[in-house]
Amino acid sequence: MIALEFARRVQNLPPYLFAEIDMMIDEAKARGVDVISFGIGDPDQPTPKHIVKRAIEGVQDPATHSYPTYAGVKGFRQAIVDYYQKRYAVNLNADQEVLALIGSKEGIAHLPWCLLNPGDIALIPDPGYPVYKTGTLLCNGVPYMMPLLEENGYLPDLDEIDHQIAKRAKLMFLNYPNNPTGAVATREFFEQVIYFAYEYDIIVAHDAAYVDLTFDGYKAPSILEIPKAKEVAVEFYSLSKTYNMTGWRIGALVGNSEIVNAVGRIKSNVDSGIFEAVQYAGIEALNGSQTVVEEIVSVYKRRRDLVLNNLRELGWNTEPTQGTFYVWIPVPKGVEATEFSKQIFAKTGVFFTPGVGYGDYGDGYVRLSLTVDEDRITEAFQRLKKNGICYH
Ligand SMILES: *Cc1c(COP(=O)(O)O)cnc(C)c1O
Repeated sequence: MIALEFARRVQNLPPYLFAEIDMMIDEAKARGVDVISFGIGDPDQPTPKHIVKRAIEGVQDPATHSYPTYAGVKGFRQAIVDYYQKRYAVNLNADQEVLALIGSKEGIAHLPWCLLNPGDIALIPDPGYPVYKTGTLLCNGVPYMMPLLEENGYLPDLDEIDHQIAKRAKLMFLNYPNNPTGAVATREFFEQVIYFAYEYDIIVAHDAAYVDLTFDGYKAPSILEIPKAKEVAVEFYSLSKTYNMTGWRIGALVGNSEIVNAVGRIKSNVDSGIFEAVQYAGIEALNGSQTVVEEIVSVYKRRRDLVLNNLRELGWNTEPTQGTFYVWIPVPKGVEATEFSKQIFAKTGVFFTPGVGYGDYGDGYVRLSLTVDEDRITEAFQRLKKNGICYH
């Protein structure tokens, strides 16, 4: 046996944050506990039938059985272009400004390789989707965390970013509607971000995974709506959450053509594209009837309202989130969030994700994912009430 020593980038990779929690849940299940987990950021409903049907046809077509094209089939890139035109009045060039991704996570992890030399800074929201930070660390970039504070509506305060840090930064990640906080961003905020990016020569990467999961008439903007945004910004579009397609692995990078091209060059050396049958399913999702999205949104809205009503009875006066399928609530004063989460779980079998899993500034909060059906939501809160769990 040789002396196996992993490269520092692997040694330094933070351990999977929820490994301990997963173990705790698995152990409880093995003991026969009826677990209700609000921890899963993955839709519980199936992909709409017409999308599945198109994929089946694609699978049966031998033309899909060889290597796909690197950038994605033209029809998929065109469907993305049409979506941006219809949804945001943003014009994109299908050949230069759109790249198909094996899910947006893949693109998020590859983007820092295009922009960061070792030691270069990436500005990263905290709390946030963990891949912004780990993607930065993997290419020896330096993450600089931008706190998302409740009093700022969970938007980063650009004035608080040190001038010297901003000068060294090459990349900023943003994500609205936001995982884990459910916060949304205004167009004015995106304008300030684009202005900041011009001032400091920073590329902005906006993760738009939840743009179409919004409630109460709210429509989330694309950062590319801002004039001249394409000079300094790219956006990650994902079909995963909008169409219940997390397992299919399909998304797109859009915006600045040079960056789209650079990510494409990295990818062509790493992967060989997305199975074309999956891309056909993606085209069907984007071009087909959008009533399925309305139905998906209305399911989350009913669950959101049910969760909020129940939380109110327990002392949490949480504002309704306008986007995402998450509810972000503070833990009672004097209780540590991870402890709070563990206590609830031990007493009731109900699991809420401790916010610290999304960064230091997530401490003091827990995230509830609305991927649990209404009967189970009701059951979960009955258990909490019976056990005297409340905010105060
Ligand atoms: C789910 C999620 C993603 C991942 O999307 P895929 O397209 O499935 O890779 C990206 N960003 C955020 C914030 C998410 O919550």
